[in-house]
Amino acid sequence: MAELSERVRALVQPQMRGLEPYDPDFAPCRINLSANENDLGLPAPVRARVDAALRATPTNRYPDPMANELRDEIASWHGVSRANVFVSDGGDEALFDLFLAFGGPGRTLVNCPPTFSVYALYASMLGTTVLDVPRDPETFAPNADELAAAAADAAIVVLTSPNNPTGDVMDPAGVARVCEACPGLVLADEAYGEFAGPGLSSEPLLAAHDNLVVLHTFSKAYCLAGARCGYLLAAPDVVDGLAAVRQPYSVGVLAQAAALAVARERAAFEPLVDEIRSERERLLLEIRALGRALPVRVWPSQANFLLVRVPNASRVRSRLRDERSILVRDFSSAPGLADCLRITVGTREENDELLGALEAILKEES
Ligand SMILES: *Cc1c(COP(=O)(O)O)cnc(C)c1O
Repeated sequence: MAELSERVRALVQPQMRGLEPYDPDFAPCRINLSANENDLGLPAPVRARVDAALRATPTNRYPDPMANELRDEIASWHGVSRANVFVSDGGDEALFDLFLAFGGPGRTLVNCPPTFSVYALYASMLGTTVLDVPRDPETFAPNADELAAAAADAAIVVLTSPNNPTGDVMDPAGVARVCEACPGLVLADEAYGEFAGPGLSSEPLLAAHDNLVVLHTFSKAYCLAGARCGYLLAAPDVVDGLAAVRQPYSVGVLAQAAALAVARERAAFEPLVDEIRSERERLLLEIRALGRALPVRVWPSQANFLLVRVPNASRVRSRLRDERSILVRDFSSAPGLADCLRITVGTREENDELLGALEAILKEES
């Protein structure tokens, strides 16, 4: 998408002059493996519950700003109390509110790239200084020592686990160390936490670390990317701080109703998550096998996507889209991710098509 016009560049706040409208470079395709959505979709009985909830929801009244019914369900799900839960218009709004309330000019956000681009975007928009503590260039592992050192002067430290787009996790012991070192807040973004192995969530640390904030979303494992609902778990006074800066009615009645129905039916998602995890391991092995004869590298992942590196990644991505109608995400121009593509784990059939197409294109390209 185009940069801002000369006129608007002169009118916006100085730190926003370099911004461009967000463009996920989406193209309608037969197979969409580009946005880490749950390709299996809502199970039919859950969809029926969601539909019934939507039908029963009047739209002429404003929503409950804090979404208290949903908060209570989330609280009992995670073993915390209502006061620990902040519901938002997608996880993205929670990130914005967190950075708005606790960042800003004269404050530092510690970031761990390559990672989700939204953190640096929101931080710079809000005038927050961003201090990068880069991941290992080969393995993408975060450096807990450097993060703990940088955290000593930080208003916010963001630790994404599993990380997007590299798929690796930061173990809870590392998160605890950063919490202890940080006078500000530590965000553990667990948007993909459901896909990770047991014992990898930082949630159990909440009780002992009142500066820890854990982010979850209904967009990934729970099939509600289109409905827009996410939440944070945090100490009650942090939740109050967020509630003080939020847009009062940002989470609409329909989103609240859909998320509540899904939260109540959360057990129904376990088989979907299991299937995605086992497909992820199959894809990993198959792509690794391709890598014995063809120039493709893949990293292990605890999320619902895999990061791969191929020569001419942008071209490979365009060919997948134009010749096979398969959409994946191109990260090749992001720092530290040269020639990298991110592939969401799809259904078994979609993954088979992706593997066949990738093999054929890589053979032709090499
Ligand atoms: C997808 C994602 C989110 C939140 O997404 P929403 O759709 O706004 O809930 C947050 N963090 C990471 C790392 C993500 O990939």
